[in-house]
Amino acid sequence: MAMQISNLGYPRMDRERTLKKLLEAHWQGQLSEKDLLTGAAQIEQAHWDKQIEFGIDIIPVGDFSFYDHVLDTAFMFGLVPKRFQEVEGGTGSLAAYFAMARGSTNAPACAMKKWFDTNYHYIVPEWENKPYLAQNRPLQVYLRAQQTLGTKGKPVILGPFTFVKLSKNLANWRQALSELAPLYAQLLRELDEAGVTWVQIDEPALVTDMTEEEAVALQETYKEITKSLTGLKIMLQTYFGSLSRYEDVITLPVDGFGLDFVQGSRDNLRYLEQNNFPAGKYLGIGIVDGRNVWQSNLRERLNLIYRIEKYVPLDRIWLQPSCSLIHLPVTTADETQLPPALHAALRFADERLAELKILARAVKHGETAVADELIASDRTQHAFEQMPGRVEPAVRTRIETLKEDDFKRSVTFVERKVQQASRLSLPLLPTTTIGSFPQTAEVRQIRARFRKGQVDEKQYRDFIRCQIAECIKIQEEIGLDVLVHGEFERNDMVEYFGNKLRGFAVTVNGWVQSYGSRCVKPPILYGDVWRDSPMTVEEITYAQSLTQRPVKGMLTGPVTIINWSFVREDIEREQVAYQIALAIRDEINDLEKNGISIIQVDEPALREGLPLKVREREHYLSWAVNAFNLAIGGTRPETQVHTHMCYAEFENIIQAIDAMDADVISVEAARSGADIIESFARQGYSRAIGLGVYDVHSPRVPEIAEMENIIRRALEVLDPSQLWVNPDCGLKTRKIEEVVAALRRMVQMAHRVRQTLNNPK
Ligand code: GLN
Ligand code: ZN
Repeated sequence: MAMQISNLGYPRMDRERTLKKLLEAHWQGQLSEKDLLTGAAQIEQAHWDKQIEFGIDIIPVGDFSFYDHVLDTAFMFGLVPKRFQEVEGGTGSLAAYFAMARGSTNAPACAMKKWFDTNYHYIVPEWENKPYLAQNRPLQVYLRAQQTLGTKGKPVILGPFTFVKLSKNLANWRQALSELAPLYAQLLRELDEAGVTWVQIDEPALVTDMTEEEAVALQETYKEITKSLTGLKIMLQTYFGSLSRYEDVITLPVDGFGLDFVQGSRDNLRYLEQNNFPAGKYLGIGIVDGRNVWQSNLRERLNLIYRIEKYVPLDRIWLQPSCSLIHLPVTTADETQLPPALHAALRFADERLAELKILARAVKHGETAVADELIASDRTQHAFEQMPGRVEPAVRTRIETLKEDDFKRSVTFVERKVQQASRLSLPLLPTTTIGSFPQTAEVRQIRARFRKGQVDEKQYRDFIRCQIAECIKIQEEIGLDVLVHGEFERNDMVEYFGNKLRGFAVTVNGWVQSYGSRCVKPPILYGDVWRDSPMTVEEITYAQSLTQRPVKGMLTGPVTIINWSFVREDIEREQVAYQIALAIRDEINDLEKNGISIIQVDEPALREGLPLKVREREHYLSWAVNAFNLAIGGTRPETQVHTHMCYAEFENIIQAIDAMDADVISVEAARSGADIIESFARQGYSRAIGLGVYDVHSPRVPEIAEMENIIRRALEVLDPSQLWVNPDCGLKTRKIEEVVAALRRMVQMAHRVRQTLNNPK
């Protein structure tokens, strides 16, 4: 048998985002469960057909999901928390499945977290009961696919080690692993009996730092789950970096190892060269990038395959993407608006599969067999490198001539505090919100029509102004101290700036699943970044003109923009971050010139960009903090700088947070309880903290007492002058009635506590 081409997972959202439409129709009661199932089966079928057409030899099945593959796994093992019993149809129903993801009237949803260092969210498994094999989902889908795929179908399963690692509050993870092992064994046995050839077990957690104890448990688990298999082969698939314990992993009783040769290439290659790859085992080479969009350097990739071939015979090699293609949009074919030189250099999911095919052909028949493709790819690369906007000498010079002082504000916080206090004269416990107000269907519609040219510039501008005016009125009525303009002109906090900044391109159909039916369209950062004109001044100054109270200028920070974009790879991320930072800095300068007294630079994605391996974190945090400080470094002392992070998991980044020289940081505090407050206190954080006193992700209107509790607890360890009161994130996805009701109570609560502080008994 010759070398094979394999895929790890295909985007669940097709070109039309059919799954999104089906799901949302079903949730609104407009599509029956049966029709949803039929519709979804058609999407899966189309994806199988397509991969056959692309000449993929080993095709993933079961990678498709109604919502999320971690949730699928929990559901398959019967890990459905008791609170979902009440859901119509009971715990095994599709309704219960969706309730776990989205919550139901009486039961809050399971937590959602970022999948490793990506922008995909998974549903966090909860272990209330002992797991059992509720259904063999991989087997069911394998059988469904059989007619199309025959034995090419490769069920994809999330591995036990990673599943346990991602689970919530496991008191005893080893115990959990040993409960799961027999279930995986049974599941695999059934696949074996059905004549399945290969199964892909995903264990991305093997690229994170692992302890000795974990390595031992991993061995035991895999021994147990494979012990009674006869013909079924296991490809142990890792991605998002190199293995952290190569020697331990490589001795596992499986038949093949899938390694990432894009993100973890250097280390994984070194391991291969220094150790004997076990004889007779298969190696899946993650050879094309499943996470970023740039065309592969085919010649360099071929050389890598030739190097690897010295250690593993070709007939034991699979060429595959570095990870599942769910992190890429479907195809570049719809991107007709892009500059041709850029368009030609892009590879989305389908184009990645085509690259695999070219590489395989070259390996099998020699490079002459793909001479045309190689030449074309060189030309594309050349044209792309020469493309206008890739290198802007003025931007480069500005970065090169940066001085240490540019990363620092001109005076210390202690002095700034005095100047800001006299300029703003805010009460104790000032109240504010995080930025966005509810975006109604009308707002989204008008924006879409504006994009299509059905609404002209003036009409659009007037419409946005009306929204802003209404939003200011509402906030004044509620009695908030610091107002926002509401962000109605923004579809997305990153795409919006991608649209305004030079060096970025935005796609028309480059959707990537973020969670469930939610998709994002990450901008493509291909060139040097700079700002040719103000991006937010018009809306913010208009909002400020309507009120005596301060309106916050609202910007997205450089690190978040990077983490939520597809970023060029020819220069260091650090450099890119500084370029964006300078553009933000220019914007801040313009806002200040226009009289704006408070500026918020959001960094909600700072934490998720944290490298998976501890040894790489310091470097990341250092440039991330620098980029933020560069963005705000030129701000006048009397201008108050805010930043926002949605989460409260600051364990290993609190020092970095402290090093970000914002005057106020708003964080989540409702769900995390007292932990966050204590970690700030322990750090000796001296600047102000906006406590997210209620959870905006739920439609529930919070009780005054709950919010007050959080503030009271904070007052025990922090100075009253340090505290602000706000919701824990933007209000974009909520209904306006919910928002008004919740904010009224929040303001009431703040007044109450303020009074007791001003008149202590
Ligand atoms: N200013 C943004 C908003 O309110 C922040 C969003 C976020 O934290 N993700 O929508
Ligand atoms: Zn947030």
